[in-house]
Amino acid sequence: MLNSIKMVDLYGQYLKIKEEIDQAISEVINSSAFINGKPVESFGNELAEYLDVKYVVTCANGTDALQIAYQALDLKPGDEVIMPAFNYVASAEAAALLGLKPVFLDVWEDSFNMNEKLIQDRITPATKAIVAVHLFGQSVNMEPVLDIARFFGLKVIEDNAQSLGTDYTFFNGNSQMTGTMGDINIHSFFPTKNLGCFGDGGAISTNDMDLAQKAKLISRHGQGQKYAYEMIGCNSRLDTLQAAILRVKLRNLDNYIQLRQEAGKYYDKLLEDLPKVIRPAENSFTHHTYNQYVIRIGERDRIKEMMHNSGVPSMVYYPSPLHLQKAYNYLGYRQGDFPVAEKLCREVLALPMHTELLKGEQDAVINELLKSINSL
Ligand SMILES: *Cc1c(COP(=O)(O)O)cnc(C)c1O
Repeated sequence: MLNSIKMVDLYGQYLKIKEEIDQAISEVINSSAFINGKPVESFGNELAEYLDVKYVVTCANGTDALQIAYQALDLKPGDEVIMPAFNYVASAEAAALLGLKPVFLDVWEDSFNMNEKLIQDRITPATKAIVAVHLFGQSVNMEPVLDIARFFGLKVIEDNAQSLGTDYTFFNGNSQMTGTMGDINIHSFFPTKNLGCFGDGGAISTNDMDLAQKAKLISRHGQGQKYAYEMIGCNSRLDTLQAAILRVKLRNLDNYIQLRQEAGKYYDKLLEDLPKVIRPAENSFTHHTYNQYVIRIGERDRIKEMMHNSGVPSMVYYPSPLHLQKAYNYLGYRQGDFPVAEKLCREVLALPMHTELLKGEQDAVINELLKSINSL
């Protein structure tokens, strides 16, 4: 049992929809329209419908999507973009490549998401945008973020790479999906995300027609009419093969999310009475979709190693906050600038989480976790 437990089980997930996937792949091969084939447009439309958003522009990956989003918003070198310090690198990297200045922000200890109460202090005359990163499958508290942005005239970009299929409920009771509330929002279909393809893929979603048109233009070399370049762009396309696979998987996304939520709740139950393990909090304004199930624990590295030695995998997202990464030294941050992010980097541990996870496997994971804690 122990040695068969996987962090993710992409093959097991594929086997359940093998016929449909194989058929979709062979249709693309038969058509040989590998670039901009019909499934690309169909998938874009279907994702727009799923999200209930007016426009989706597909592209090659989520990192490109961020860069295209910044460019579509017309951000210029020196413009400041606020984003969490406890995060994947993409939002900072794409900003830095365009000469924008990433401005980091501390996060909530219990939800790992950006602390919206700290945003106002980070705003300067150069601030132009806020990147709301929905980490691990849980929505940022969007309403205050949108209010602050409106008040200060800032743009909001949701980084929904980890949280496709998650919802957010406003104070008035209305709900929207993450990735539909910002001015322009990004998604990733990296294989381990909530909706993953068989390689790289990404998308941008927006309700703003101008931004959608611009994003599309930028992702196609800035090309309007053939060989007429209206602006500097890049080459970022979703492969037809990936789009065909994503169409099949999108039809299963609600089921995948339900399976993740059930697994998340089962871990919660198993960990209920363990004072040494802090479970991931679920905020009342969102339903966690558990792209990752991340606990906090003391002596994290030793625990991880002991579990690994007994055949139980786990991962650390993230071992170091962005403000202390060498590549971002030039921004001038120091140890201690974002104490919560720094603490989380010492304590977080992601347990196996995927759509094929069995209760018996979860029992075994928690058993090994307990054994490791007890033998410290
Ligand atoms: C995965 C991820 C991205 C980028 O995704 P790619 O498709 O791998 O480029 C961006 N932001 C966050 C938070 C992510 O987790």
